[in-house]
Amino acid sequence: MTHSSSSGTRRVVVLGTGGTIAGKAASSGDNIGYTAGQVAVADLLGGIEAPAGVTLVAEQVAQLDSKDMDAHTWRELAARCAHWLAQPDVAGIVITHGTDTLEETAFFLHDVLAPAKPVVLTCAMRPATALSPDGPQNVRDALAVASTPGAQGVTVVCAGTIHSGLDVQKVHTYRLDAFASGDAGPVGYVEEGEVRRVRAWPQGAPFDAARLEAVSKPWPRVEIVMSHAGASGAIVEALLLPSAEPLRGLVVATTGNGTVHHALEAAALKAQDGGLVVLRATRCANGRILPKPGDGLRDAGALTPVKARVALVLELLGVAALPESEGG
Ligand code: ASP
Repeated sequence: MTHSSSSGTRRVVVLGTGGTIAGKAASSGDNIGYTAGQVAVADLLGGIEAPAGVTLVAEQVAQLDSKDMDAHTWRELAARCAHWLAQPDVAGIVITHGTDTLEETAFFLHDVLAPAKPVVLTCAMRPATALSPDGPQNVRDALAVASTPGAQGVTVVCAGTIHSGLDVQKVHTYRLDAFASGDAGPVGYVEEGEVRRVRAWPQGAPFDAARLEAVSKPWPRVEIVMSHAGASGAIVEALLLPSAEPLRGLVVATTGNGTVHHALEAAALKAQDGGLVVLRATRCANGRILPKPGDGLRDAGALTPVKARVALVLELLGVAALPESEGG
């Protein structure tokens, strides 16, 4: 379903996927007991003024709680982004999304599209029915970014801050300012509809249809296991049992600078010797794994375990890695 509201010659397309921003609760005082993904994206735009000279187009791509995000929706979203980005009069795209897996979707879109125009994900921590919802201001700020000349790449806008889709992480369960960019820091801020940028936009690249085509193939199964006090190799052994969908890749969420409990490490090394692709990603919120001589398992640098999983799926699909952020 596509819906448009007109005020100018450049278009910004708003793709709805659900989330708390489209959530409804029984009472306006309830900020947590709501159902996500209830309000149509066209309705989320009601009362929000389009930036000067911009026509808004609303399209519902999905309507889900982003904790349930899946490969099918990601493919669909990437395809709709590619479609709209190819239209010469489209300045940029805003995606309304739940906060729970927003960083994974942003990282996926960055890797698959690396758009030369802005693709801006936004969200809310309070449902649309809240006494004081944060969604409308976040959408307004995201529209400002998507229509800013020269903006590019995948970004996330929440609580007035612009994060790179590569670096962003959800860091709070409840506060409105729930996202951070780690050591890399934010790309900038939105203040009264104006973008104040403090570092470069995420890198864009010419559209590569082969990347989009590659993600339309069936996805390899890649799981995440965590290293922790008292860890064992039992989960790895269980994951390797015969299955209709055999395991192809494993991300080990490591302690500290890529360290893994010796029992889990032994099982992971054995699995790697048997042909499984294994990647270490730190469970620390900030920093990157600094490789050292003798490391038996590859590391994912600054990628968090959930982003490392996306990176490994894409690698197994033959989608080459893009340059990494300097942050972490
Ligand atoms: N569970 C919700 C979602 O990710 C949380 C949110 O949007 O804040 O869709």
